Amino acid sequence: MVFNRDFNQNVGMVDGIQVNVFYADEDKDDVEAMLATANYVLPLFKDLFGEYPWDELDIISLDMGKESDLGMEYPQLIMVNTPAHSSVEAIYQTVEHETAHQWFYGAVGNDQYAEPWLDESFSTYASYVAFYETLDFSWVRKFGNKNYHLTSPVSTFTDREDEGGMGKYSDVIYDFGAKTLHDLHEKVGDELFYKGMKTYYRKMKFRVATTADFIRIMEEATNQDLTDFFREHRVFVEETM
Ligand SMILES: [Zn+2]
Repeated sequence: MVFNRDFNQNVGMVDGIQVNVFYADEDKDDVEAMLATANYVLPLFKDLFGEYPWDELDIISLDMGKESDLGMEYPQLIMVNTPAHSSVEAIYQTVEHETAHQWFYGAVGNDQYAEPWLDESFSTYASYVAFYETLDFSWVRKFGNKNYHLTSPVSTFTDREDEGGMGKYSDVIYDFGAKTLHDLHEKVGDELFYKGMKTYYRKMKFRVATTADFIRIMEEATNQDLTDFFREHRVFVEETM
């Protein structure tokens, strides 16, 4: 939790959900952007993935230092490291990303170390859908290092740039992962993609999902064999049989 006796609190109601923004005086100019983003994405993500399962969402604006991460997610609580943001658009994107984590990590659990793509790729993709009018992932780098795949655990990433390759955690898990979901959306079409995402959310809510669950549910919902698609996108499932 975050404690600060000097926090102010602004309360908004969004779609029956109480949104509390806690902030210090110096962050008061960003409160409106945070509430507006919650106002926009809570109904949007409900529409795309399923109901937000709690009554409240807390948004904490705080100073973790300019060099620290932009934000952090906890169930029903997100942190926004305000000084690390250089524009109001950046605030929008962080609130969108961390709020998406309420669906992917908060409600649908996963092993964040073993299969980080199940929360980070999904939240990145959801936040891009919210932020951009049209999605373009042509800038995403190609894999050059055979050792990395989308289902690599956190521990395999060294954050060193490999020669001609893509070795950074964020390149693989955030960027390539979001692109993978975008490619899946393109492949199966809007209706089947969101049918699959909604089914995944409904079936795995309050459980610990695995990559195998996601693939199985997507294949069932779309009635398609997605083996080649996931293999080409370096989403691998360990054989446990
Ligand atoms: Zn994240």
